[in-house]
Amino acid sequence: MRAAALLLSIGIAVLAGSCQGGVQPAGPSAGVSGPSAGVSGPSAGVSGPSAGVSGPSAGVSDPSAGVSDPSLAATMTRATPASSPPDETSPTASTTELPTLVPGSSDAAPWPSPSPAALKPAPGREFFHGDLSKAEVFITIDDCRNWKNIDLDLEAAHAAGIQVTLFPAGRFVDAYRQAAAAALQKAISYSDEIDNHTYVHESPLGQDVLQIKGDLDTQLLAVRSALNDPAYREWFVRPPYGLGFDDSAFVTAAWRDDLAVAGWSIDSSGYEQGSTVAFVLHNVFETGHFRNGAIILLHDDDTDTAALPLIIDGIYARGLSIGGDLKNILASA
Ligand SMILES: [Zn+2]
Repeated sequence: MRAAALLLSIGIAVLAGSCQGGVQPAGPSAGVSGPSAGVSGPSAGVSGPSAGVSGPSAGVSDPSAGVSDPSLAATMTRATPASSPPDETSPTASTTELPTLVPGSSDAAPWPSPSPAALKPAPGREFFHGDLSKAEVFITIDDCRNWKNIDLDLEAAHAAGIQVTLFPAGRFVDAYRQAAAAALQKAISYSDEIDNHTYVHESPLGQDVLQIKGDLDTQLLAVRSALNDPAYREWFVRPPYGLGFDDSAFVTAAWRDDLAVAGWSIDSSGYEQGSTVAFVLHNVFETGHFRNGAIILLHDDDTDTAALPLIIDGIYARGLSIGGDLKNILASA
């Protein structure tokens, strides 16, 4: 108990010292379409898109712009836990610690990016955009339950000579082990980045630091196992449903795992039922959030995957480029 209290106080101190204020983005994601058949094992009983943790919001709010969204009030105050900790596969804090940072541990990086030495881990710090002075944006893809679409995304990005950053939930790595391993290994071979989106893909609100840390560690182990790389280094964690920004337990767990917290500034909302490619392109480019440093949030839904090549073209058509892996924002942070 004393240790937990100490951690909490450390977390509060970290929050006070390093977190951006303001409002987090509207709850993303409930990732919707995905293989519905035969998901078993660790995924059983994990809340899906219909769990109503936070529905997609039509209005994307950019926290850096100070836009307020009434729907966020509940998540900002978290007086009551939003959900119970998962009652299965509940990882404990005994899982392994992250190793010492090994920049550039993956194979060759053929595309321009900051030298590994320039990357500075930013444990517990929340990012909702990159460098606002640079004409570049970042593409991130969450959940990774549809590995066929992830493979298409990786090929589209590779064909365009750019990188994307994947945020797979660990349970989707384990549930579709073979496809996940093939895609994740391909991602590394293409110099894409793989980060943490928790293992269980549950709201972290109401969980304590050790529960969350255990969950993050379990996701990392799943990724490392799929990669056959026991030293693979993750740089960011993104909380499921956007629930966890400014949450002391979540941020402290991220800090302990040497992970920065990744938000976003543009939500394509391709997971929304009935979404179309035109709808996704509108959300990316026409809602006033497309600008220098933007972090674009996609999912592995069919609509987002179909739109990705057009998104890449649209970025260039507007005079911006893709900044490569998300970790590159750490070079100028
Ligand atoms: Zn997600």
